[in-house]
Amino acid sequence: MSSLTAPLLKWYDTEKISMPWRGDPNPYHIWISEVMLQQTQIETVIPYYYRWLENLPSIETTAKASEDFILKLWEGLGYYARARNFHDACKNLVSNGIYQVPDTPAEFNQLKGVGDYIGAAVQSIAFNHPIPVIDSNVKRLLSRLLELNGVPDQFKGKMQSYLLSQISNQRPGDFNQAMMDLARIICKPRNPNCPLCPVKRYCGAYANGTVSDYPKKKIKRPKPHYDIAVGVIWNGNNLLISKRKSAGLLGGLWEFPGGKVQKNESSEDCVIREIKEELNITVAVGDYISTIQHAYTHFSITMTGYHCRYLDGEPEAIGCANWKWLNAKDLDTLPFPKANHKLFDKIPGLNPFND
Ligand code: SF4
Repeated sequence: MSSLTAPLLKWYDTEKISMPWRGDPNPYHIWISEVMLQQTQIETVIPYYYRWLENLPSIETTAKASEDFILKLWEGLGYYARARNFHDACKNLVSNGIYQVPDTPAEFNQLKGVGDYIGAAVQSIAFNHPIPVIDSNVKRLLSRLLELNGVPDQFKGKMQSYLLSQISNQRPGDFNQAMMDLARIICKPRNPNCPLCPVKRYCGAYANGTVSDYPKKKIKRPKPHYDIAVGVIWNGNNLLISKRKSAGLLGGLWEFPGGKVQKNESSEDCVIREIKEELNITVAVGDYISTIQHAYTHFSITMTGYHCRYLDGEPEAIGCANWKWLNAKDLDTLPFPKANHKLFDKIPGLNPFND
């Protein structure tokens, strides 16, 4: 099989995308950058990457940080399981007396959150292990190059063996990054710039004039939409907030208690019911605050907020991981989902019930 490795690496040496972690040999820096880059654009990651290293420069400092601190640093980056898993992995290493990123795939791949992508990216870039990276960009490029007639996920084995036949043993990390950069810069989702492609002579779709036929598309399901009602519960100048359970979407973040409005239920009744179910307390619903729209990756919501007066009951964490009373002026000190943030500037610093 003829090899695209040499022209690919030659192209990469002059055209690679500049990123703050590129050329930095510190394996911990490489690891956190790759965790952040999963499903997230490079430009979005950069400020988070700098802020993370400023606050948590090592495995040890990450292991010692609280979950709230970790999630506050991650707030807005999405896919919060990545942060929780990275935190757990660092804690696991430190509890075993390990303060460096493991330099063998067997050890590293056992850590929480280390899947095929992170394992291959970190071990190839930081430690020169020839393990191919297959992310969504590489899948698109290979779908065209190999003319894969089906959705890319069906061809993982074929992609893996092709990349294993091509990956440079001397520069495996550069090979992987070159494939990802080539897909980002040249083999783009729309209008790939084939005339400038350094590997066009190896590309089946280019040779056959079928580039626009690949990759084959998945049938997309429409995103679900939910109506949510939440209560901003006042007791003096403190607000009652609840912490989402770790498992699942937005896990570990704090929020205003509430939930999905049921069929034939008013938003106000929903707030009273959800707060009773989640925290076992009774509230009276007061003034309407605002209605906000927010789109997450897999669904969208319309969220209506109300001021609520705390009436009685000692809060219990029934439908949540934890709860706390927090001064209204301190909301910004804890990690909240973006949708809750949209209510922040509509919440006064003092109790609107004048209690
Ligand atoms: S020739 Fe075009 S389709 Fe083929 S790999 Fe290069 S950019 Fe992608």
